[in-house]
Amino acid sequence: MVCSRHDLKLTATLHLAEYWFEMIPFHTLCPDLAQREVRVLLIGGPADAPPGPMPPAGEYAFVEFYCEDLDCDCRRAFLQVMAKNQAGRVFASINCGWEKESFYRKTMPWDKSAPKQVVRGSLDPLNAQSEYAQFFLEAFQKLVWDESYRLRLQRHHQVFREELKRQFRKQRW
Ligand SMILES: [Zn+2]
Repeated sequence: MVCSRHDLKLTATLHLAEYWFEMIPFHTLCPDLAQREVRVLLIGGPADAPPGPMPPAGEYAFVEFYCEDLDCDCRRAFLQVMAKNQAGRVFASINCGWEKESFYRKTMPWDKSAPKQVVRGSLDPLNAQSEYAQFFLEAFQKLVWDESYRLRLQRHHQVFREELKRQFRKQRW
C-alpha cells in the first residue's frame, strides 16, 4: 500500500518513486497499543452463517497500517484482515478514513469516487484480497466501522506520527 498524494502533480515518472510513501504496520512502531486495541471479528460456525461464501470460523484481526510521510496529512488507514491462527494470509485489504467526505474531496481531488469510498471503507484495488474480501468489507461496514472505531484510528494515527517523529529525532542525534 502506498500513499499517493502526489500522483497527479507529478508527470516525470523518474521522480515518482521518491514521492510514494509506504504505509507501515502500526504494530511495528507501537506494539503494545496495537496489540491492546486491535479490532477483532469473531466468526462462528455454519449454524449462524448468512447465505454466500463464508470464511472459516475463527478470530479475524483488522491490522492497521498508516502512512510514514510526516509531511503528508492524508488521515487514512489501510487495514489488512488476518486470521489469528493463519499468520501471513490476507483475507481482505481495506482503505478507510475517519474524516468527513469534504476533507477527502480536498485531499483526493483526482478521483471523484474516492472520497465517498474512503469514508465508507472500500477494498483496495492494488493489494491482496481473497474470495472472502467482499464478506469482510460488508462486515467491516456493518459491525466495525462505527464512531468509536473512527476515533480510535484517528488517535492511533496521532500516536503513530508522534512515535515516528521521536524515532527520526533519535536517528539524527
Ligand atoms: Zn499519507
